[in-house]
Amino acid sequence: MKISEILESKKMTLSFEFFPPKKVENEKILFDTIDILKNYNPDFVSVTYGAGGSTKDKTVDWTIRILKDYNLNVMMHLTCIASSKSDIDVILEILKAEGVENILALRGDIPKDFPVEDIKKDFNYAYELVKYIREKNGFSIGVAGYPEGHLESESLEKDIEYLKLKVDSGADFVITQLFFDNNYYFEFLNRAVQVGIDVPIIPGIMPVVNLSQVQRFVEMCGATVPDELVKKLEGRTPDDMYKIGVEYAVLQCKELIENNVRGLHFYTLNKYNATKEILEGLGYAAE
Ligand code: FAD
Repeated sequence: MKISEILESKKMTLSFEFFPPKKVENEKILFDTIDILKNYNPDFVSVTYGAGGSTKDKTVDWTIRILKDYNLNVMMHLTCIASSKSDIDVILEILKAEGVENILALRGDIPKDFPVEDIKKDFNYAYELVKYIREKNGFSIGVAGYPEGHLESESLEKDIEYLKLKVDSGADFVITQLFFDNNYYFEFLNRAVQVGIDVPIIPGIMPVVNLSQVQRFVEMCGATVPDELVKKLEGRTPDDMYKIGVEYAVLQCKELIENNVRGLHFYTLNKYNATKEILEGLGYAAE
């Protein structure tokens, strides 16, 4: 089902993000995770696309597998920076034929070791991919938003203008980069309203279960971990860090829900424990 239709009829959505496992031995972990989290009736789940299209085939395979084997509504992430229009056409045809109705349209980043001769120039920014997919029809399209600004953007004002361009090009909804301080998200919503963005903006939530791992993530994506949270986590045992991280995420989500968010999108990292505990802390019950 198209996420745009779900968002029209539902006040708040629940969704989970997975990545295609690189190693066969890690596939079981993802199967187990889906087996557990599907009991919380997500409105959709999403499958990431490796930088520069590095997991292209796996992403398409996992998207179709989750749709067919688990009967879950799926959104496939699709990046365009290193792709030609015909590369994108091939993928869109497969998705259409298999009944996948949702795409998160992204620019993506070119990996450092990506061969220069393989860089194609059909798409420079995500809005061009959004436009291209919209012309083909048949998909509900999401785009990425950055409450703390995208790493490359010259200013928060420019960043929100470019988000508006993605929406005007045909995006139905926005999913945000992870953030740990809700004020960034609320300020982002205000900026979005000011420029006339009127599609749902779903917050992306990452449970902190390990300080050094989260610090690596935020370095890559330009988000910040509040000092207060860092202080709480520093010097703790892995078990304590996990508990503190789950408690923090429950409080973060509660405040978001109180402020009428249109959904919660969990970056699960293919693990179910923390997401499951957070959901239970929020009163979601497994079927
Ligand atoms: P864009 O919206 O094109 O923006 C990229 C930069 O260009 C920004 O700084 C923006 O301000 C600027 N910009 C935009 N339009 C213009 C314009 N017209 N003129 C000048 N500047 C402009 N990456 C992956 O590789 N695979 C994934 O599966 C994946 N999933 C993600 C899921 C979510 C929810 C999020 C938030 C990010 C995800 N990413 C993923 C990361 C994303 O690919 C990177 O952040 C990438 O650097 C930017 O992609 P974008 O679609 O936001 O690009």
